[in-house]
Amino acid sequence: MDPTREPTHTRCAISACGWCDRDGVDCRFCSGTGWWRPEQPHRDGSGVIVWLRVDEPCRGCAGTGKEHSPVVAS
Ligand SMILES: [Zn+2]
Ligand SMILES: [Zn+2]
Repeated sequence: MDPTREPTHTRCAISACGWCDRDGVDCRFCSGTGWWRPEQPHRDGSGVIVWLRVDEPCRGCAGTGKEHSPVVAS
């Protein structure tokens, strides 16, 4: 089991961000954790490509765990 992750930031880099001001809307990319776990290709010593899972701050929400979709729900 993974340890519980906390979002890396409480707010993104945008000052007065309207998305950060909203509460209760979890980022749909990371489900509000502020982290995502993509797999990245890595060539090992024998030239074989293996996929490694890495932890990165979520790019969808700048690690805040809050939805930052620019798409306005109609
Ligand atoms: Zn924001
Ligand atoms: Zn996110």
